[in-house]
Amino acid sequence: MQLMTLLDGKATSIAIQEELKIAVTERMNNGGSRPHLAAIIVGDNPASRAYVGHKIKACERVGFDSSLIELPDNIREDELIHEVQMLNDDKSVDGFIVQLPLPKHIDDQVVLQAIHPDKDVDGFHPIHAGRLSLGLPSFLPATPAGIMELLERYGIETSGKHAVIIGRSSIVGTPMALLLSRNAQPGNCTVTICHSRTQDLPSITRQADILIAAIGKPHFVTSDMIKPGAVIIDVGINRIPDATKKSGSRLTGDVDYQAAVQVASAITPVPGGVGPMTIAMLLKNTLEASA
Ligand code: NDP
Repeated sequence: MQLMTLLDGKATSIAIQEELKIAVTERMNNGGSRPHLAAIIVGDNPASRAYVGHKIKACERVGFDSSLIELPDNIREDELIHEVQMLNDDKSVDGFIVQLPLPKHIDDQVVLQAIHPDKDVDGFHPIHAGRLSLGLPSFLPATPAGIMELLERYGIETSGKHAVIIGRSSIVGTPMALLLSRNAQPGNCTVTICHSRTQDLPSITRQADILIAAIGKPHFVTSDMIKPGAVIIDVGINRIPDATKKSGSRLTGDVDYQAAVQVASAITPVPGGVGPMTIAMLLKNTLEASA
């Protein structure tokens, strides 16, 4: 049996945060300013609150300033856009995010497009999506950027490999496909994107040298869907019941981890894989925005 590599996103994220901390200290020593990330959160979604909390804590760790703008669930779209415009105009803020999902009565796209691209450190603005598709420099969406960084730091060969991505969302699957297929290192993959209308999904995933699951369904990818020796990237974050936990639940990915480790050559755990990398890349974008 071949040795399996655990792609430890948590440890890698901590290493990146150490690098960022050094960069901030150097900048401050040279008379520069401290990067400042702001986050808008709307409503009381516990998962969103936890994600934003992790981002704010990470800012503290690397020496960034941070602000959290908490808004009620019943805020009108125009009021939220006004808050976005205030952050666009606030010279003390280098970059900001609007935590998704937003309440149903608000159009995510309208809000995201109101963010000034220079401050859009999530990289969701059409300007960044367009620049990414043209291969021009842009703020990369943090989750796919984090996956690329993880592949690079673990020395995973991507050139000429077949990458299969399950999921075509604008924040994960689609930018992931663009990054993996571009003529760069890492990159140069042959990419297949799968989605809910894909027929005979297992026959496609079994061709993957690199399989990326970004679906949002616990344990969806089973061992029979994995080519022996494949690299597995599990983006999914799903909360499932677990009576052994004090909270009564735990987080799990889109991949049946216990089964996949028997077949894969490398895999990201959930939690501790892609999630922490996403935070590291958000900080990296913020440092860049503040330059
Ligand atoms: P979306 O719901 O936007 O997209 C899910 C994708 O999965 C869609 O393209 C959908 O297809 C596809 N899909 C759904 N069911 C099937 C199926 N049966 N077979 C094949 N494809 C299917 O989710 P996101 O991209 O936003 O997120 C995906 C997961 O990643 C979630 O668990 C989310 O929590 C997690 N996530 C994790 C992050 C991290 O930092 N680790 C960051 C962002 C997300 P279709 O388009 O046809 O509907």
